[in-house]
Amino acid sequence: MTTLDQQDIVHWADGALLTGEPTGWADVTNPATGEVTGRVALAGEADAAQVIAAAKRASKAWGTTSLARRTQVMFAFRELLNSRKDELAAIITAEHGKVHSDALGEIARGLEVVEFACGMSHLLKGGHSEEASTGVDVHSKRVPLGVVGIISPFNFPAMVPMWFFPVAIAAGNTVVLKPSEKDPSAANWLAALWQEAGLPDGVFNVLHGDKVAVDALLTSPDVASISFVGSTPIAEYVYETASRHGKRVQALGGAKNHMVVLPDADLDLAADSAVNAGYGSAGERCMAISVLVAVDPIGDELVARIADRTRTLLIGDGGRGATGEQKEADMGPLVTRAHRDRVSSFIDSGEAAGAKVVVDGRDVTARGGEQGFWLGPTLFDDVTPDMDIYTEEIFGPVLSVVRVKTYEEAVALVNANQYGNGTAVFTNDGGAARRFEADVEVGMIGVNVPVPVPVAYYSFGGWKRSLFGDTHAHGTEGVHFFTRGKVVTTRWIDPANRPAGGLELGFPRND
Ligand code: NAD
Repeated sequence: MTTLDQQDIVHWADGALLTGEPTGWADVTNPATGEVTGRVALAGEADAAQVIAAAKRASKAWGTTSLARRTQVMFAFRELLNSRKDELAAIITAEHGKVHSDALGEIARGLEVVEFACGMSHLLKGGHSEEASTGVDVHSKRVPLGVVGIISPFNFPAMVPMWFFPVAIAAGNTVVLKPSEKDPSAANWLAALWQEAGLPDGVFNVLHGDKVAVDALLTSPDVASISFVGSTPIAEYVYETASRHGKRVQALGGAKNHMVVLPDADLDLAADSAVNAGYGSAGERCMAISVLVAVDPIGDELVARIADRTRTLLIGDGGRGATGEQKEADMGPLVTRAHRDRVSSFIDSGEAAGAKVVVDGRDVTARGGEQGFWLGPTLFDDVTPDMDIYTEEIFGPVLSVVRVKTYEEAVALVNANQYGNGTAVFTNDGGAARRFEADVEVGMIGVNVPVPVPVAYYSFGGWKRSLFGDTHAHGTEGVHFFTRGKVVTTRWIDPANRPAGGLELGFPRND
């Protein structure tokens, strides 16, 4: 029997905490202080089976609960989350490190999906054709899948799960969420909130853990689908493994997002945008701008403006300033010491490869604990596509400027990249923007918008090695992913018009 400490984070199944028999525990840290603040249970196969079984038991009843009742629960969840979002933001900051206002931003984008899912009754309406053949009607409907698995990354502990679970639940599915072991507490907080909103026990469950927990979801015959978000190698593994086990899969992977600045662009807007999108959330966003492509002749001027702005950023504990007694920091720490060291080693390697370090984040002075996982914003100029700071996803506050001579060279660079998540063009020329939109092989495009995350009623997803599977998250693609179609062909015998019966062995024709 496992004895729990107050700071232990365990699974949530059937509307209650479940300790199970963990195979181990992973430390959870506060990145701004470096302190271990808790430990999270790592599920073994038996624990995973227990959580999946809870979702399976609840599946039938929830899938047949009236649309009216499901909608009421969604609205209640929306209201509760909106009124208590500061609590959730504080949990995110304490385990992820992003500043409080940024954590509120991620919750706001998740809330959008909840609001979208409040309209599920409309989105689930099927089609109906009367008299498709003589005396025959046809109607279609979309029904829930059953138990759906969601596996999420560390960088958006609330928003990424919310890309999926509001739509999945409103469509009548039950959920097992496997959050990142680096910042697991947000998932349990959301689970308790669902209960308060009136969601029946077993509809929303949380399974904590690492590869063992993930593999259990990917291979369980009781899990119908997998929605994964994380790095590309794991996304590819998840896609292949879950597909092999007969599931539908959407697996969103990594990114290297290019922002192309054409010579006629507003350079102040471009510089502000590059700083916001490059260093917001310490660059730990899948839609962060990590490469800035400056088209001649604006490179020198643009780099100077970005550097000036970058030097003014305040780096510090994201929780301080949240209550207004102090200015909030612009950028928090990185998520773990190991990740900070990895990002820092990329700066070493870029410098060694000959890129010019314009602003060096390794010299950072931060407002926060001495043991915090600090790294300041770093700006590289004269980066070339053969350098590993260009080819690898760094996932930290490192912005690389690549100089090119022409628009064509810029587009070729974007399209040669293995990733195709997001991209942006900065220009005042509508024709050039329209051409860019057509030319780039990327899923989400911004025109003078550096982080073009689609609103909830559109769908989020990249191309190439940024997405395995063909269905993007939320919007109508999300509704499609979390439901399957049935088409019913009906004949009711009306003796007044047409008698039943008669033998006819040919293939049914319509007339
Ligand atoms: P990660 O791939 O390390 O982890 C993601 C999830 O997979 C976690 O729940 C983790 O526990 C699990 N996991 C890790 N290793 C595994 C393994 N060997 N087998 C099975 N499961 C495993 O990603 P991360 O570091 O948490 O998140 C950052 C990455 O996520 C970046 O690459 C970023 O671009 C990507 N991301 C992409 C999007 C998108 O929309 N495309 C959004 C957010 C983050």
